[in-house]
Amino acid sequence: CFCKLQGEVDDCSCKVENLDSLNNRKVYPVLKSLLQRDYFRYFKVNLIKPCPFWSDDSRCALKDCHVQSCTEDQVPEGLKGNKNEREPNKYSKEAQKEEPNCNEERKLGALDRTISAESMEAFKNWTQHDDKQETFCEIDDEYTPDCQYVDLLLNPERYTGYKGASPHRIWKSIYEENCFKPEKLVYGSKKSLAGSMEGLCLEQRAFYRLVSGLHTSINLHLCNEYLFPAKNLLSSPEFGPNTEEFIRRFDPKPTKGQGPQRLKNLYFTYLVELRALVKAAPYLEEEDFFTGNPEEDKDVKEGVKDFLEIIKSFPDHFDESKLFKGDPKVAEKLKTEFREHFRNISRIMDCVGCDKCKLWGKLQVQGMGTALKILFSGDRIGLESTVNAHHKQRFQLRRSEIVSLFNAFGRLSSSIQTIEKFRKLTS
Ligand code: FAD
Repeated sequence: CFCKLQGEVDDCSCKVENLDSLNNRKVYPVLKSLLQRDYFRYFKVNLIKPCPFWSDDSRCALKDCHVQSCTEDQVPEGLKGNKNEREPNKYSKEAQKEEPNCNEERKLGALDRTISAESMEAFKNWTQHDDKQETFCEIDDEYTPDCQYVDLLLNPERYTGYKGASPHRIWKSIYEENCFKPEKLVYGSKKSLAGSMEGLCLEQRAFYRLVSGLHTSINLHLCNEYLFPAKNLLSSPEFGPNTEEFIRRFDPKPTKGQGPQRLKNLYFTYLVELRALVKAAPYLEEEDFFTGNPEEDKDVKEGVKDFLEIIKSFPDHFDESKLFKGDPKVAEKLKTEFREHFRNISRIMDCVGCDKCKLWGKLQVQGMGTALKILFSGDRIGLESTVNAHHKQRFQLRRSEIVSLFNAFGRLSSSIQTIEKFRKLTS
């Protein structure tokens, strides 16, 4: 099968076969059950934030694009007030009144009228703190009424029928305007991807592979949970794996040789997020995973510890220290570009014309942004080094960053498992 990938993942000293074995036998089963727990299944998201780049995309009317949001009483008590934040002032309701991406003057002006001077001061401090924290993506303001809790288990990522000009514009904008690429590579061109990577530096190749790996993962899920029409008047449409769709998207013949490379990019993305989780392990091991239900929270804490032990024992991790090396000025410039391009991709997610796709697109991009923050923000993580050497600040993650990182990694893990399934179905 063309999907029987072998050898090293590009730019990593890790073999695909080893990742298959780690993921399919150990990681996937543990993670699957962890992601069903309350802490991880409720995600707060703004699905009606206007697209900042173009305005003519009408909201999608496809039935399978619909997202069912939670009513107030469905959400666990402890999640409503975010009582588990380690710094209670930071994301207090008052401090979050305004959109985080408004300009500073507007933010302060609006807040001045509504909250106390003390909260104002806290907000200013945290805003400065956040600006210094090198975030790689824009996170929704959790306290606007437009932000709703969604139960991810009730809204699975799968085939929705979202196709044509709208998703093509999104992918085109991501690859053409935000990925680094040599002059000759044109979006969707027939040129082989391997050839087109020539001339890109390691960081630029990594950026492209991350995005391509995410694209592969999204498309694998829609192949695996494809909607087949009802067989007759008495039956209903059913979701299931579609081998033809898988072949169309990933077989070297219809994809002019690019399919297997795109599958391999998924492994690259997986390795990057895996490494971020391992790096953040000392922080995550201290997290309470608070939902207000002591038994549930204890189980989740233990479950996360077991999961972290599994991934920590894997020997061939992605080595992030190889990126942004060399001349400090050049490295810093490259890192700024990398961060800005990625932030732009997080904004493009608000332009996705299918709500279900937007939900999972936003979640996965935020998860990847969190992984990049863990790997490249320069913050040291762990009990003895929680204070950043430069800013004297404590590394921290919001609940939404933890939830998105785990779920994003869960999606990649499920995709790798799906490849094994299609391998069996096509051989
Ligand atoms: P597309 O997947 O749209 O690809 C466009 C072009 O990009 C291809 O022609 C090819 O040249 C290139 N390309 C394809 N894959 C890769 C890759 N891995 N790496 C590099 N280049 C590549 N649909 C659903 O049914 N369910 C979903 O949950 C869903 N989520 C989505 C989330 C987002 C953020 C977006 C933008 C789209 C989503 N879609 C979803 C739509 C889906 O991704 C496809 O766009 C759609 O199925 C049309 O597919 P296509 O065959 O035209 O090619």
